[in-house]
Amino acid sequence: MKKKYDLSTRCVHAGEGGDAEGSPHTPIYNTTIFGFWSTADLLDVVEGRKEGNLYTRYGLNPTIRNLEIKMATLENAESALVFASGMAAEAALFFAHGRNGIVCIGNAYGGTLELLAEQLPLIGINTTMLMGEEIGQLEDVLKKKPGLVFFETPTNPTMEIFDIREISGLSHSYGAIVAVDNTFASPVNQLVLELGADIAVHSATKYLGGHSDLTGGVLMGPKELMEPIDPWRKNLGQMMAPETAALLARSLRTLPIRVQRQNSTALAVAEAVKEHPRINRVLYPGLENFTQHELASSQMSGYGGMLTIEVAGSGKDASKLVDNLELFLIAPSLGGAESLVTQPITTTHHGLSPEERLERGITDSMIRVSIGMEAEEDLIEDLMGALDKL
Ligand code: PLP
Repeated sequence: MKKKYDLSTRCVHAGEGGDAEGSPHTPIYNTTIFGFWSTADLLDVVEGRKEGNLYTRYGLNPTIRNLEIKMATLENAESALVFASGMAAEAALFFAHGRNGIVCIGNAYGGTLELLAEQLPLIGINTTMLMGEEIGQLEDVLKKKPGLVFFETPTNPTMEIFDIREISGLSHSYGAIVAVDNTFASPVNQLVLELGADIAVHSATKYLGGHSDLTGGVLMGPKELMEPIDPWRKNLGQMMAPETAALLARSLRTLPIRVQRQNSTALAVAEAVKEHPRINRVLYPGLENFTQHELASSQMSGYGGMLTIEVAGSGKDASKLVDNLELFLIAPSLGGAESLVTQPITTTHHGLSPEERLERGITDSMIRVSIGMEAEEDLIEDLMGALDKL
């Protein structure tokens, strides 16, 4: 597209419209291979003189290439690579850019923490985990010249916010690349590359897919940083299937409208439940009394559909609240059309010891809520009714 249109327009039109049969959407090229008219034609693609299709596992398939054009435009990036899952994207990123050491700041998704803290060190990749309150030690860690700084913001499940501009500036001054997992906020609410990060990471399984019916991942950034990741994706066999790519492109056409609705419902739910006597606190960056509200507002244009509610009571009371809900499905994911609820101690952070949970600010009476597309008054009534029954 020639002009720089609004995100909503780009979500519909980017990477579409070139179909020879006139379809407005890129069809599903459900094939593993592409044929050539001559050896010279084949060599043009293999030797990089011509962009073209070749083999689906390489990403050289029109359904995948067109999805990557749409994906890149979401974060205003030069290029994007899609993967079979969010974890596949992270693994390729760590192999390509983290071999000189990785610093992970703050809480992160459980699978990410396991990969960084337990698995990558087994193959000689040095990883340093800094908790949010240890951020003052970042400069000392950077002096050891790690290749990559990685973090989520907002983080799971305490909704802690990290200053993308500041961390990126400091990391760059020591030559480290910065990758931010923007899954929780989505590009509708936060553009991490514009704030100074080098690579945006998404589990497309969440808001990008938006319907709890596909698994995928994506990295967006400058070509210079994406190119070294591509061979890892290719040879680790991490490619997304063309059927999934088409489903994901379908979902992206409605991304802004879905996320805007989830933003406004989440704020309304947070405002309503925080007044209930059985609530200790509600962690939502959009609430004015949220400790990091100002920082969140300086880098987010909306506050997302995720909130954490701490019940006034025990872990058992929190479980009772979860079990009393009718509209919220008990499931450890986020970003879909149906609202979800989990108690971090039973799911995402089940494997941590009580001391580790305490260190990460995770309490037994916390429940994490992913707001879906239902009417806000129905969700509020369900939550208030379940709280009244405690
Ligand atoms: N990043 C975040 C913030 C997540 O919540 C998740 C999964 O829950 C992942 C990454 C991993 O994504 P996937 O399940 O698509 O591999």
